[in-house]
This record gives sequence, structure tokens and C-alpha cells, in this order.
Amino acid sequence: MKIDLNDKIALVTGASRGIGKQVAKDLASYGATVIANYPHPKDSAEQTVEEITKAGGKAAMIEFDVSNYDAVQESVGSVIDEYGTIDILINNAGITKDGLFLRMKEEDWDKVFAVNLKGVFNCTKAVIRTMSKQKSGRIVNIASVVGEMGNAGQLNYSSTKAGVIGFTKSAAKEFGSRGITVNAISPGFIQTDITQDIPDEYKEKYMEAIPLGRFGDTTDISNVISFLVSENASYITGEIVRVNGGMYM
Ligand code: NAP
Repeated sequence: MKIDLNDKIALVTGASRGIGKQVAKDLASYGATVIANYPHPKDSAEQTVEEITKAGGKAAMIEFDVSNYDAVQESVGSVIDEYGTIDILINNAGITKDGLFLRMKEEDWDKVFAVNLKGVFNCTKAVIRTMSKQKSGRIVNIASVVGEMGNAGQLNYSSTKAGVIGFTKSAAKEFGSRGITVNAISPGFIQTDITQDIPDEYKEKYMEAIPLGRFGDTTDISNVISFLVSENASYITGEIVRVNGGMYM
């Protein structure tokens, strides 16, 4: 199966590290021009862009916080002005602020919602007119296994990810007639900074629940995303693709 993303402009949010960085690199390796987003100067996406260009790919970076509506519209607008369009949007940026519900502060609830769910709204809003006009587009959102099965200590995070699943299905219904597909990946336990600090005893518990007997790599996610944004997946929309080693079926 050939994946050809030549002439496609792809915006990947939260591309400075983890899953987003790998997705940016893979989409570029298939020919896309990748716009790698990052939220603040101290953690720029410079390394992502450097690695892509060194490998012969095309990439640029753009700073904005996905939770800031005005900043997103302005920044994504400037990308569209410069490149003419955005063909692919990967809503990847996400954060956790874990804690048992009794101790969860209002700000921990609001912040996680602002980035993980409103961020998806903000970025989709910023690309949808352009995609509608050109009657084509690919949007992939990153949900999570805990948005499907729940997790103690993550009431805020799991609620946002369940929201992302609802958003994905509704958007797929609303945008389908314009040639835009909207899908989500629901990752299980993927080895990145977000999972690094989980105590070993919890990691052991998670491992016991994974039939394939290993945690996922960022490439396990990016491989599926590369397929979903390609021509090969043109008849797939509204799907929530589980990439979790069998952790939840
Ligand atoms: P990560 O390593 O912590 O990376 C998160 C990325 O999002 C970073 O580039 C971060 O930038 C960026 N980001 C955070 N807040 C942002 C904001 N307000 N605006 C723009 N970018 C922002 O996490 P990851 O594991 O790669 O996770 C990526 C996505 O997969 C998230 O949506 C996460 O919920 C989801 N997911 C991950 C797992 C897993 O096991 N790893 C499982 C299920 C779902 P900075 O580096 O500057 O902070």
C-alpha cells in the first residue's frame, strides 16, 4: 500500500514531542509539508522541524496555545494565507492534571477541558471553511482508552477524551457531504512523557491488562494516522480506531 501525501499541507498540534512529533515526522516522510505547532517558546518544535528537514522533508513551526481561540484563528489563518490551504489537521495536543475527584480543583478540570476539548473545537473551527471550500480534508483527533473505559484519578481527562469521541462522530456527520473525513485514534498506554511519571506499580497493573504484552510506541499511533489521512482511507469517517494492544476491546 502506497501512502502519498505530496502537495498536502498538514497541521499537527503539540508537535514538539511525544506522539505529535512522531506524527509530524511520518507525515513529512510521505511528502506532506508539515506545520508543527507548539504552545510556548521554551519548548519549541525546532527539533521536530530540524529532524524533518535533515531527512529531506518540508516543515515549519508555529507557536500557539490550542486553548486560546483568538490565537488559534489568527495563527492558523496566517498558515492558510502563506500555504494556500490546510489539507490535514491532527488534533493531538493534550495534557493531564490527574488526581482523585475529592481533591480535584476546579482549575484542574477547566485547564484540561480547555486544552483537550476546546482545543479541538478551536483548531477545527480554524480549518473548516478552507476544507469546506476545497471540498476535501482530513481531520484526526486523539482520544484515549480512558475516554472509553474510564479511570480513577482521571475524571477530568477521561471526560475530555469521551468528549473528543462525541465531537469526532458528530463532525463526521456534519462535514461528510463536503468531502471531509473526521476520525479519532484511541491510544492505550503509549510510552511518552505523559506516561513516564506513572508509578511502577500502576504500570505493572496496566501491563497485565495488555494481551500483546507491551506498551505502545509513538509509531504504533503514527502508522495508523498516516493511513487515515491518505487516499487509502477515503471511505472511512466517524471511526474511533483503538490502538491499545488489546487493553480494551
Ligand atoms: P506529551 O508527550 O506530553 O506531548 C504533548 C504535546 O502537546 C507536547 O508537544 C505539548 O507541548 C503539547 N501541548 C500541551 N499543551 C498544549 C497547548 N495548550 N497548545 C498546544 N500544544 C500543547 O503527550 P503524548 O503522550 O504525546 O500525547 C499526545 C496526545 O495523545 C494527547 O492528546 C494525549 O492525551 C493523547 N494520548 C496519549 C496517550 C499515551 O499513553 N501517551 C494515551 C492516550 C492518549 P509542550 O512540550 O510545550 O508542553
